[in-house]
Amino acid sequence: MVEMKFICDRMLGKLAVWLRISGYDTLYIGDFYAEDEDEFLLRSFGDRILLTKDRRLYEKAKKVKREVFLLRSNDVAEQMKELKALGVKFQIIMDRCSVCNSLLRRPSREEALMVLKEQGLPEDMLERYELWFCENCRKLYWMGGHWINMVRFLRKVE
Ligand SMILES: [Zn+2]
Repeated sequence: MVEMKFICDRMLGKLAVWLRISGYDTLYIGDFYAEDEDEFLLRSFGDRILLTKDRRLYEKAKKVKREVFLLRSNDVAEQMKELKALGVKFQIIMDRCSVCNSLLRRPSREEALMVLKEQGLPEDMLERYELWFCENCRKLYWMGGHWINMVRFLRKVE
């Protein structure tokens, strides 16, 4: 089980996606409406480790004793390496939606057919792939070409 939970600042959208793919419960500030994002990040979701690229926000968070980690690189692969300092393990776990952070589940046959149709995808994907489904945003996941690219990318990071 993955225990660490995160909230990412505006600069770390790609990293948030990789954390979700790896099973970590991860929020992204871009998914919220906040007039002052720094204040929001400092005051909300105190049970989560704040990930930021902004040194000033990092210093402020330290001052209010908020758990925070400062990323240095602009490159997501490098950021993933930096997070190893926290013991984060990057891997592909079909557990959490990379778009909205909701938990995924296996769809029933009927649901799968309905969603494939909705999204203009061929029906035979049901036979060709294992499918996962996000009930919240209705995204469908399968082990296709995108998956292979993700595996390749992870190998590069390791
Ligand atoms: Zn979703």
